[in-house]
Amino acid sequence: MSNTMSDSYLTTTPVPAVTPQAKRPAPHINTDRFDTPIEVDRPILKTTGLYKSYRKGQHIIPVLRGVDFVANEGRITSIIGQSGSGKSTLLHLLGTLDVPDQGEIYFEDQRTDNLPTRQRDRLRNGQFGLIFQFYHLLPELTMLENVLTPAMISHGLFKYWANRKQLKDRARQLLELVGLGHRLNHKPRELSGGEMQRTAIARALISNPKVLLADEPTGNLDRQTGREVLNILRKLNEEQGLTIVMVTHDQSIADEADSIVRLVEGCVEHV
Ligand code: ADP
Ligand code: MG
Repeated sequence: MSNTMSDSYLTTTPVPAVTPQAKRPAPHINTDRFDTPIEVDRPILKTTGLYKSYRKGQHIIPVLRGVDFVANEGRITSIIGQSGSGKSTLLHLLGTLDVPDQGEIYFEDQRTDNLPTRQRDRLRNGQFGLIFQFYHLLPELTMLENVLTPAMISHGLFKYWANRKQLKDRARQLLELVGLGHRLNHKPRELSGGEMQRTAIARALISNPKVLLADEPTGNLDRQTGREVLNILRKLNEEQGLTIVMVTHDQSIADEADSIVRLVEGCVEHV
């Protein structure tokens, strides 16, 4: 993360508490033309004709070959596929961490793949929360400090210092939300894998993102602990209206989602 991301969130005081997104009416109710309300899903992330290859020495490895993908607002979407099928590549493109060779990516109505780096950083920092299989917590920091790191980086020292009390309150609230209110001052080595992933979820939410992008969030956890992490994601989705896009290679995890997108030979199969 770079400093170019500053100002994208929490720029004004007071820092909002854990702010519910539009609650689960996300599937919008259209009452205009019919007596009985009809739920209408609204795309929040969308790609058309996405191509991405990697170069390894003289070889070109085609990974995505015309991916059309949609994730709806307020829903959980799973991306499933075999190892090496391009799941992480697609998630990184959705999260503006990388750019495609060809094709278009939209967040809400905004095209994101052709934005200048600075604007992509800003968009990512403000709208997307990211979690990964291996947590990526900083070992020397407490859980509270780990949750605060994105805010420290994006605010810069001076602004962070001025807002530190509200930011700390918010980080504490988020850790309570994921069931870790009693672990604020522990270091990662003192926690279980499930607790570390829950901390990573709290860290991803510090910027109050609209979308949580999760790459194999239960991939390093035993089944029971993985279920607990999934339950937290489901709770965030249902209670806060958080949109979640979750990569997994495990069908039983993918089945928890509202919709499943399968990557096969670089293309999408809607399941
Ligand atoms: P998945 O997440 O489904 O396991 P990935 O998206 O990580 O798959 O990778 C898809 C393919 O692209 C794999 O063959 C992988 O080796 C290759 N790949 C991914 N990232 C890179 C990279 N930075 N450089 C070269 N090859 C890569
Ligand atoms: Mg992967």
